[in-house]
Amino acid sequence: MLGLMQDWPLLVHKIIDHAALYHGDREIVSRSAEGPIVRTNYRETGRRARRVAHALDRAGFALGDRIATMAWNTARHIETWYGIAGIGGIYHTLNPRLFLDQLVYIANHAEDKALFFDTTFAKLVEQIAPKIPSIRLYVALTNRGHLPDIDVPNLVAYEDFIADARDDFAWKEFDEHTACGLCYTSGTTGNPKGVLYSHRSNVLHALIAGHADAQGVRNIDTILPVVPMFHANAWALAFAAPMAGAKLVMPGPKLDGASIYELLDTEQVTMTAAVPTVWLSLLQDLEKTGHTLPHLKRVLIGGSACPRSIIETFEKKYDVEVTHAWGMTEMSPLGTLGSLKAKLAGLPYEQQLDYKCKQGHPPFGVEMKIVDDDNRELPRDGKAFGRLKVRGPSIAKAYFRGEGVDAFDDEGWFDTGDVATVDPDGYMTITDRAKDVIKSGGEWISSIEIENIAVGHPAVAEAAVIGVPHPKWDERPLLIVVLKPGASAGKEDILGYLNGKIAKWWMPEEVVFVDEIPHTATGKIQKTALRERFGKHRLPTAAE
Ligand code: AMP
Repeated sequence: MLGLMQDWPLLVHKIIDHAALYHGDREIVSRSAEGPIVRTNYRETGRRARRVAHALDRAGFALGDRIATMAWNTARHIETWYGIAGIGGIYHTLNPRLFLDQLVYIANHAEDKALFFDTTFAKLVEQIAPKIPSIRLYVALTNRGHLPDIDVPNLVAYEDFIADARDDFAWKEFDEHTACGLCYTSGTTGNPKGVLYSHRSNVLHALIAGHADAQGVRNIDTILPVVPMFHANAWALAFAAPMAGAKLVMPGPKLDGASIYELLDTEQVTMTAAVPTVWLSLLQDLEKTGHTLPHLKRVLIGGSACPRSIIETFEKKYDVEVTHAWGMTEMSPLGTLGSLKAKLAGLPYEQQLDYKCKQGHPPFGVEMKIVDDDNRELPRDGKAFGRLKVRGPSIAKAYFRGEGVDAFDDEGWFDTGDVATVDPDGYMTITDRAKDVIKSGGEWISSIEIENIAVGHPAVAEAAVIGVPHPKWDERPLLIVVLKPGASAGKEDILGYLNGKIAKWWMPEEVVFVDEIPHTATGKIQKTALRERFGKHRLPTAAE
């Protein structure tokens, strides 16, 4: 017997309708690509999203068309997403930090038909345009006065494009499983692969993400998503915030510590989200200026492992609660979040901090298990580590155009490529990417754990650990360190600091000091580049 409840399709543009109707005067404040801070609200954004939809519809774009965006977090970018979704088009976020060849590959693979871009990227767009024949319309997200002087076909200013389009345009009708968004993985191995979100998965994910013990998005919040919309859906905040009618503060092109601080302060932001490197920059800036964070209540940190020192500084010095989260593009992206469970509430702070440093526990809607190399499930004892597999309604079941089939098994589990432990309370700890794990004497060493401890040394700004070939042990860890400006420390200082904090046999064989550690387009340490540079490093014990 079937239930007798309404069949109300979970469509993304219903979110902006809800926000426009019930939270119409709640603001979206953006630092525009042109420079000034501009203010709008959900009512206006809802209207303009419909104008985008109408403008696209009358220009001949339709259900299933991939419409690319290469843009910062701004209200215009949000309008564009909802407008595209409202005709059944697919917003395809292009990450401008990718190499030119990768961008060209991705846009061609997606067969994008139009590109909406911020003027910041005008020159980049001009370079890639001749190599992407499928794109027949270029929309610069600005007004006519700022239209860049570049040579691309059918270039129009966004404000002109939507100027006389209808703000009561009727959304198109289609099934909730219809594709809605496309985002390519960073592709550290092989070509980037496309993750194709549906309306249903985005709506469900926003509900999951907004939940009290996840991001806890409330109407009274003022949220600053530093995490870009071109990286994994801005962690669902462009959906979860309007769902609740939370005020949004969009940082546009300026993501340095000082600029973020300015917005946190002037807009009285209560919640913000970004990768650890952004927070390193902000905390260094606060240290210099002596500024405090009186309005900020919570900060969400993920994308790569968050060092203990960042969590501790936010919480102890600035009284800002940190939620450490883990996820990936394939998971829409949130997989686990580190809110403290009731049974931990009475623990001393240092022990609570141990839990906060883990990557968190899964919300309802994410199933998770760890398996060994033979796909046998491993115990949830906080010790055994194996490949992390996940399942759920906002997790990919395949990649766009059927690539990467090996990541999906017959029971519907997706292999994340991460190696992790899960403790009896469900807190998961990432110990490595499967390909970065260091195999020493048949045992595994977690590069991430050593890195996290090393950055706690007062002189260390950033640290990376890679495995280097060793004749006796197969591989041994090499620690690569960037010192803070003006700080000094030698190999013995750093190793002395690690001593007692990690197992003896995990102790790096060597410490090398560099000016900079390379990062990927999504802000992760680029271990492949480090392995290329230091992979042949001769360790002091290699001759034993
Ligand atoms: P992306 O799809 O670019 O977001 O990358 C996803 C990958 O980032 C994951 O598979 C992890 O390897 C890594 N990652 C994300 N969040 C964390 C975290 N909190 N700690 C450690 N690694 C993380």
